[in-house]
Amino acid sequence: MTRRFLSIGECMVEMAPREDGAFGMGFAGDAFNTAWYMRRCAGDEIEVGFLSAIGDDDVSRRMEDFMQAAGVRPYLAVLPGRSVGLYLISLRDGERSFSYWRSASAARDLADHLDEVTRLGPGDVAFFSGITLAILSGAGRDRLLDAMCQARAAGVRIAFDPNLRPRLWPDGATMCAAVMEGATVADIVLPSFEDEASWFDDADTAATARRYLDAGAGLVVVKDGANPVLLAEPGNVREVPVRPAPRIVDTTAAGDSFNAGVLSGLMNGEAPDVAARAGAALAARVIGARGALVDPD
Ligand code: ADP
Repeated sequence: MTRRFLSIGECMVEMAPREDGAFGMGFAGDAFNTAWYMRRCAGDEIEVGFLSAIGDDDVSRRMEDFMQAAGVRPYLAVLPGRSVGLYLISLRDGERSFSYWRSASAARDLADHLDEVTRLGPGDVAFFSGITLAILSGAGRDRLLDAMCQARAAGVRIAFDPNLRPRLWPDGATMCAAVMEGATVADIVLPSFEDEASWFDDADTAATARRYLDAGAGLVVVKDGANPVLLAEPGNVREVPVRPAPRIVDTTAAGDSFNAGVLSGLMNGEAPDVAARAGAALAARVIGARGALVDPD
């Protein structure tokens, strides 16, 4: 029977500078990137879907077409008169900076359209992130977490990347409280140590893992750049080494691709250590090329 991976969040229009000075249009966003990479690493017996909300304008339709073409099944509510968010990458003296237009994006209302979550069952995985939480209203966050709780009770495994982005939150305390609440519905948590340490004062990766185990996770996978990945299950903590990337061109989506490698491994029944190695190998290839979506083949 087909198993399902459903990622929930916001996909945005990406305007990226090209060599000729013009901008090329693409589509990206953390939860969508994870779905995109998932489609590339999981076998055909796993359906990869993306749940969000879009507008009814041309660029929203193009986004949906892009997902279809990438093999990611769109579960998108179409909200009349609305549109999708956009970000633009600027390159100045080799440094990249990002500008965002996302405050009116349809995805902010995705929590009003969670029916597909109720159709998941045992063996399926639902994924969301701290960015998914950040774009929702307080009531929307509550609805999403309720849906995740019910799915979990129905045997769905819930995966969560805290993806701390202070700019998306009114203040750090609100972000930390919402992220820890998000973690309470998750079986698998995939935090990045550097961000966690700066907002939760974690002394080391073990402290990050402990905090999420205490919140109720069964498996915590702590990413830490080129340093070893920490795998923590209740009563069992160990490190998985990360091979140095042969070249670092652009670290965008390192964490998103890592998540996909780990989660596809786990869905295929691999041990967490094997799945973490696959995640690290995929992320190392992704940071060796420019852009969020790098074909790993
Ligand atoms: P995020 O992108 O979420 O901030 P990290 O920077 O910790 O996350 O990176 C995610 C994963 O990408 C790491 O666990 C590792 O597997 C891989 N990675 C990141 N930087 C490097 C690097 N310099 N060399 C090899 N692998 C890396």
